[in-house]
Amino acid sequence: MDLHTLTMAQAQDLLSRGEICSVELTQALLDRIDLYDDRIGAFITVDKSCALAQAKAADERIAKGDNAPFTGIPIALKDLLCTKGIKTTCGSKILGDFVPQYDATVVAKLKKDNAVVLGKTNLDEFGMGSSTENSAFKITRNPWSEDHVPGGSSGGSAAAVAAQFCCGALGTDTGGSIRQPASHCGVVGLKPTYGRVSRFGLVSYASSLDQIGPITRDVRDAAMMMNLICSHDPKDSTSAGVQVPDFTKALKENQSLEGMKAGIPREYLEVEGIDPGVRSIFEQARKVLENLGVEIVEISLPHTQYAVAAYYILAPCEASSNLARFDGVRYGARDSDSQDLLEMYKKTRSQGFGPEVQRRIIIGTYALSAGYYDAYYGRASQVRTLITKDFSKAFDQCDFILSPVAPTPAFKIGENTKDPLTMYLSDIFTLSANMAGIPGLCVPAGFSPKGLPVGIQMMAKRFDEMSLLRAGFGFERALDLKTSFPVL
Ligand code: GLN
Repeated sequence: MDLHTLTMAQAQDLLSRGEICSVELTQALLDRIDLYDDRIGAFITVDKSCALAQAKAADERIAKGDNAPFTGIPIALKDLLCTKGIKTTCGSKILGDFVPQYDATVVAKLKKDNAVVLGKTNLDEFGMGSSTENSAFKITRNPWSEDHVPGGSSGGSAAAVAAQFCCGALGTDTGGSIRQPASHCGVVGLKPTYGRVSRFGLVSYASSLDQIGPITRDVRDAAMMMNLICSHDPKDSTSAGVQVPDFTKALKENQSLEGMKAGIPREYLEVEGIDPGVRSIFEQARKVLENLGVEIVEISLPHTQYAVAAYYILAPCEASSNLARFDGVRYGARDSDSQDLLEMYKKTRSQGFGPEVQRRIIIGTYALSAGYYDAYYGRASQVRTLITKDFSKAFDQCDFILSPVAPTPAFKIGENTKDPLTMYLSDIFTLSANMAGIPGLCVPAGFSPKGLPVGIQMMAKRFDEMSLLRAGFGFERALDLKTSFPVL
């Protein structure tokens, strides 16, 4: 059996029945990482001995009859999530040697359930980017075509799942960073409702937009991961005290989606620069859903045309204040030959942060400064409210909104790095969900003429991930693309 092909659900089944053991599964994945990750660059850190020790402990637990769902399942974590004793770099030189003293809540939950942590995946520095080219350490290549980007910023996690280096992974999404790389790598990605998952131990980029979520081989695995990571957490004041359903209950084989309504935003189809391949896959997806009984209605999200502009004010504003803590004083890199404190701050930050992060800190600081605050931050916040209202109106007419994830399939490495604005536009369909705090799911939907994967996005009301998983599962089953993975 090719152990690396197993989904989390399949691995769980075989592990609990004693047909495979976690040590052999973990070893098989580590061997695969050894063999191919020099080319793909999905991982920043792989901790083999720690992973194998966790696998051994998991096998012992299974032998004793402990069957917590994640026992022995090897997963990968975006390197923006704090892991006790394992380097957490955030893709930045400034945290190049940073080893946290504690686990993020989601990591603690995985460990409590006896999951195996294989390592930490590459990302755009602090999550700022859409291609994983902004990492201080390496670029990640798309396993479907190695001269293309995997998307970003969770490009390492998406590439690791697509390359079958792990059974599943966690990513984070501030403006599309789970969904867009999932689309470019042909895997499933879910950004939960803001507040669904604790952000404790997630290094903040833009705190009012950041969410942690699953990147998996299929929709079932995403539901399984949601069951584990969602909960109220007293350590995160923005985590919601809402009930967490059993998300796997949304998945029923051969279930028709009769009675569900999907809204297609009129404005999205008018967006300039949508690749014809993406358009035709989107049309096909719509037909697949119609065949499943979904009624398609036209909706309007009039203010989304301002989403990119507003996001690229709000996110840098929050980033500029969040990243103020990296000054060389308490942790992280420090310039050692400065004469005074101010010079030390300046040098540490100029050397420690990459160009995109510096650009955002400067934009954010400017937009928040006295005299400009109302014109920029204030205005952008108002746009955010209008976008949120657009969505609530739209959800009076439909159960979920259907849209492309990104305007194009994965682009070539280096193709969009010269012009930040082109790069920012690749988030056009994803970042509104973060501004409104609603959940968004990316499901693989087909391949471009060049053979690159393309996903579709479904967005639902706050806390209605169940509808997304139900529709996504039905769609995935009807399309049956799930067995196709890149040959490395
Ligand atoms: N590409 C967007 C940005 O650079 C989104 C990033 C993210 O979701 N972390 O801000």
